[in-house]
Amino acid sequence: MALLDIKVYGDPVLRKVAEPVTEFGPELEKLAADMLETMEKGDGIGLAAPQVGLSIRFLVIGLPEEVDGERTMRILTMANPEIVAESEELATCEEGCLSLPEINVQVDRPEAVTVEYQDLKGEKRVLEAEGMLAVVVQHEMDHLDGVLITDYLPPLKRTLMRGKLKKLSEQ
Ligand SMILES: [Zn+2]
Repeated sequence: MALLDIKVYGDPVLRKVAEPVTEFGPELEKLAADMLETMEKGDGIGLAAPQVGLSIRFLVIGLPEEVDGERTMRILTMANPEIVAESEELATCEEGCLSLPEINVQVDRPEAVTVEYQDLKGEKRVLEAEGMLAVVVQHEMDHLDGVLITDYLPPLKRTLMRGKLKKLSEQ
């Protein structure tokens, strides 16, 4: 496994609409392992391929959870995810992003979503997500369309944050 370089706000790859994944197999498996390692090192719970400079529709999630009193981690690797259903109810969460260090934004998103995707072998799968998992999967899917949490800021707050963002993009 290898640590990958995380692209930060200002890098044009973060604003691109990513291309579908068409090749499955060992190379994608290696990318998934490297992305999970990079995500964990950065203390994140999700990472999308554009954040490591690859404009493809692929993301990983590693969400701590408790099963029968034991702390484990729910790991998901998703290619070409599509939201096929979402709840009308919204939930608000303060989100951070490895590509936007030290910035948190309150984002409203559907509380629950159903996502169709392909696994590392290209098999079709369905994820029913709610709570934190729904937040993470929607956040990472935004990256595949070039959308960042700062896009959810109301105009006034975005203006106030302009200096901070400019600094990030100049790093
Ligand atoms: Zn992010």
